[in-house]
Amino acid sequence: MYINSDAALIVRAPFNTSEENINKVILKYKDRLQKTQKEVQLRNLKFNKKEFVDGERFLYLGNYYHLKLMDNPEILLDFKDEFLLSKKYLSYAKNIFIIWYKRRAYEKISQRVRWYAQKRGFKYNKINITNAQKRWGSCSHQGNLSFAWRLIMAPLTIIDSVVIHELVHLEVKNHSKVFWNKVGSLDKEYKEHKDWLKNNGYLLRLK
Ligand SMILES: [Zn+2]
Repeated sequence: MYINSDAALIVRAPFNTSEENINKVILKYKDRLQKTQKEVQLRNLKFNKKEFVDGERFLYLGNYYHLKLMDNPEILLDFKDEFLLSKKYLSYAKNIFIIWYKRRAYEKISQRVRWYAQKRGFKYNKINITNAQKRWGSCSHQGNLSFAWRLIMAPLTIIDSVVIHELVHLEVKNHSKVFWNKVGSLDKEYKEHKDWLKNNGYLLRLK
């Protein structure tokens, strides 16, 4: 049972659960659910839906850059301190942006993973960039590291904190004290970085 990103209440229960029982559980958590629902509604009000219009701002590595629509049909999407997008491809703008973000995410995150892995001798297998909406990163038992492409919108310190978190999982699978001590030795402000993602993560999206 949770409030989704559209502020709707989602309840998952076995199909034979009675409505009465479901209602009982909802009533029990009513206050907390309503609080979360209000927060999500407020966030959605603050977050401007992307329209891909001239002058609109898009996040990249923690900074906002303006979008400039170009008549030149040669340009699909270019980045030179602003985003340049050909008007011809406007109807595909969202997908074009996602492809661009994914490529940049792969380049930047791979580079940060390599850097920390060399520094501390972490052994990983490969890096995947995912469409995950809720999870920023994960680490498989095979040593594969996955990261959401949306991270590329965040400041580098935040990207690094997720990279460090997943690299430490290569050695410690749980979230024990040992784990957080190791994380802390590479990312002294990991608590602040976690809070930043909790509070600002909703901005890192194209909707
Ligand atoms: Zn973790």
